[in-house]
Amino acid sequence: MPISSVMADTLKTNARVVILGGGAAGMSMANRLASRLNGASITVVEPREQHNYQPGWTLVASGVWEAPQTLRPNTDFRPAGIKWLTSPATAIDADQRSVSLADGNSLDYDILVVATGLQLNYDMIDGMSPDLIGSNGIGSVYASLDAAARTNESIEQWIAQGGGQGVFTSPQTAIKCAGAPIKMTFTTLSRIKDTANRDNFQLDYFTPSGGMFSQPWVSDFLKQRFDDEGIRRNHHWHLSAIEPGAKQAQFTAQDGGTEVRDYDFIHVVPPMSAPDFVKASDLIAAQGPFQGEWLDTDIHTMQHLRYPEVFGIGDVIGAPINKTAASVKAQAPVVEANIVAFLQDKPLPARHNGYTSCPLITDIGKAMLVEFGYDNDMAFLPSFSFIDPKEESWAAWVLKDYLLQPAYYAMLEGRV
Ligand SMILES: Cc1cc2nc3c(=O)[nH]c(=O)nc-3n(C[C@H](O)[C@H](O)[C@H](O)COP(=O)(O)OP(=O)(O)OC[C@H]3O[C@@H](n4cnc5c(N)ncnc54)[C@H](O)[C@@H]3O)c2cc1C
Repeated sequence: MPISSVMADTLKTNARVVILGGGAAGMSMANRLASRLNGASITVVEPREQHNYQPGWTLVASGVWEAPQTLRPNTDFRPAGIKWLTSPATAIDADQRSVSLADGNSLDYDILVVATGLQLNYDMIDGMSPDLIGSNGIGSVYASLDAAARTNESIEQWIAQGGGQGVFTSPQTAIKCAGAPIKMTFTTLSRIKDTANRDNFQLDYFTPSGGMFSQPWVSDFLKQRFDDEGIRRNHHWHLSAIEPGAKQAQFTAQDGGTEVRDYDFIHVVPPMSAPDFVKASDLIAAQGPFQGEWLDTDIHTMQHLRYPEVFGIGDVIGAPINKTAASVKAQAPVVEANIVAFLQDKPLPARHNGYTSCPLITDIGKAMLVEFGYDNDMAFLPSFSFIDPKEESWAAWVLKDYLLQPAYYAMLEGRV
């Protein structure tokens, strides 16, 4: 155990802290721990130079934002006095408390924060690759900022055709921003309705589940809303193969049966998991619903269930909900408080209540601010008295379009 003592609000410690990933979660933790731990050696491992504001990608893919609006250099947010390494992590030896990097170096740690985000598994869909996004009527908002911009072009081309079949998908795994596949359906419909040709367009939504969303009230609302809008719901199907040349998609049902659909535009959402090098480590869940796919953390304390010096935050953790930047904002103070306590050999004081939020766009210019947590059947946890989580409103759209991005950057800086 590293030597630590409390001084005012900071903890004096010689602990070696390694943070894997410098995205939403890793950057927030770097800033929080840099100001809280006095004397610690903090190393962030993050290969990217630019920070992507991913919640803006749905707006880019919907033709509302320009791509550069979502990019800023990581140097804008990096705290002083930490080490920043750009060679990606390739392996974690949890017993030896050591991380290997692609450049052949390794890092020993007293505290490890796993904040790598998740991996997009496009290769689980036969015939699909992110390179195809933007061609043959294929869109996918998830792959990258460039893919979001190309998705917008594919949608524009489809709408310019004056009609045809649109297919919107959701995969058989947990995903980040579970609302994004639905938002893409609604914003595309909104753009179609702006033309005089609504009746020439057929929209189908495919989901492997019987519901539409993890929050039960929202799930029922969306079913009704899709039906009212004439968007056909196809439950218990997932996209298993695509043939771009023929513009055909194959769906597989729970019983293994398959069905092929023609499309003019398809929005592909890939299966997702923890990155391969995390999956190959002892830190991956060894049993239960997240087995082999997600980091094995206590969903309340964020501490690893078997390696107490390891904490997880963000998309990589196994949890029934979360995987939003809004969750990261709620998790970061919990992880900070619990690491500070752990370094002093004290019981962990903080608990994450599962808070997650989705500014669920239902039309261009309208959204619902859906905030909820683990408890009471995922009951709503509204933050603003003037926004009803059960109402579509322009106020929630304004929040998404203008206000959430500055709040997100304040989170990266560890200020909220
Ligand atoms: C289209 C879309 C729309 C979204 N909309 C919303 C929204 O409206 N509201 C909301 O709250 N959230 C939204 N999100 C989700 C939000 O962006 C994520 O939940 C959030 O970024 C999670 O933070 P993270 O740090 O876990 O992952 P990320 O921010 O993805 O960061 C992970 C970092 O780890 C790094 N990394 C990966 N592998 C390695 C490695 N081997 N070694 C070192 N570093 C590595 C990556 O380079 C990356 O920078 C959206 C996401 C997408 C894609």
